[in-house]
Amino acid sequence: MDYYGGIEAGGTKFVCMVARGPQDIRAELRFPTTANPTETLARAVAFFKQQAQTVNLVVLGVGSFGPVDLEPSSATFGYVTNTAKPGWPNTNIVGLLHAELGIPVVIDTDVNAAAFGEYAWGVNRAIDPLLYLTVGTGIGGGAVCGGKPQHGLTHPEMGHILVPHDRLRDPFPGVCPFHGDCLEGLASGPAMSERWGRTAEMLPDDHPAWGVEANYLAMALVNLILIYSPRRIVLGGGVMQRQALFPLVRAKTQQFLNKYIRMPQLFSDIDQYIVPPVLGNQSGVLGAIALAIAGIDSR
Ligand code: ADP
Ligand code: ZN
Repeated sequence: MDYYGGIEAGGTKFVCMVARGPQDIRAELRFPTTANPTETLARAVAFFKQQAQTVNLVVLGVGSFGPVDLEPSSATFGYVTNTAKPGWPNTNIVGLLHAELGIPVVIDTDVNAAAFGEYAWGVNRAIDPLLYLTVGTGIGGGAVCGGKPQHGLTHPEMGHILVPHDRLRDPFPGVCPFHGDCLEGLASGPAMSERWGRTAEMLPDDHPAWGVEANYLAMALVNLILIYSPRRIVLGGGVMQRQALFPLVRAKTQQFLNKYIRMPQLFSDIDQYIVPPVLGNQSGVLGAIALAIAGIDSR
């Protein structure tokens, strides 16, 4: 029987899977993303080679941390490019995996893959446009528009949008190495721990940090709602594991929109509009499987 390979290549960990969908998962393996891409990719290759002894592996999908070159005509298509992750700049992920496994390899960003996975299965199926935002070590966003992960000049970089920053109320300068106080700079997990002197998971639900966090995330969501007009927004990543953050973000989003868009999704139905991932911590890797099944790459 034909099976598909999926890799969620994250900045912290790799998740490898052989599956046909969430109900038919053959194997899954998680391991750290080290500073040595050759070694990390070799572990993934060994996993898929072993699996290929018992199933027919037809296509491999990859959802990668970025920035990644998705321009088919580019000489560095399928490369992780100028990433801040040590050891990984200019790594030819697609080329290496294709050479080792000898099957077609399709690639997108981790967040476009996660958006596509949520779009492919479960209650978010065929919701279009669908946005997926991860709030973790970094902030990143992906979108499915017209049935496909969205690309343009490059892939979306929603984590680096600029949001109003009142330095009198929040003097924290931000942690983004490129922009300082962009969304990621102000609201990523590392931004929280640096601002408050404790990691996000150590901050109690009633700490003012969560109001500040909800404020920035809601400003970002308002901008994204006004530009993409998404039919649903999925919020994933480590920081969003804090369930208490969801009602705060929803309420602030409504407050900032100020009844401007009169759709039930932004009023009574907002609990079904800004939602956690249906696929939990498997959105990215199952999204990579969904990309492989669809045969979608950046073309
Ligand atoms: P990555 O972005 O590297 O893939 P994650 O999505 O797991 O990693 O995000 C890691 C971040 O999430 C860390 O900054 C951590 O402090 C934060 N985090 C993890 N669990 C929680 C939690 N329960 N509540 C709030 N923050 C959390
Ligand atoms: Zn930035």
